[in-house]
Amino acid sequence: MSIQEKDNVFYCDCGFTWHRGNSGAHDCGKGLRLQIVDLTAAIEKLQSDQRPIYIGIDFAAPAQGADYQGAIDLLRTGAANELDNGCRAHHNALIFAANVLENAQAFGAKS
Ligand SMILES: [Zn+2]
Repeated sequence: MSIQEKDNVFYCDCGFTWHRGNSGAHDCGKGLRLQIVDLTAAIEKLQSDQRPIYIGIDFAAPAQGADYQGAIDLLRTGAANELDNGCRAHHNALIFAANVLENAQAFGAKS
């Protein structure tokens, strides 16, 4: 786990935060299990929200010249916002989705 400090508040990767001067003792496992729940929910939400984008995409052979840039930009903006809000699980899920689309677009451009 890594811990970062900003404005006298410490942030553990597990989601636990504490103010300078207070005890930072905690169990990372609890926060990590919550992150798994959040991440799973975020992925499921993305899959249902973005269903129209995924329909018809064959990642082995995406449509030639397929343009997913709008969706990719949307996901990356969302990911940046989630990180600013301190929700790493949502950030990771959005980055993952953006990468999948970016790869599909790259393969589509080559074919
Ligand atoms: Zn922790």
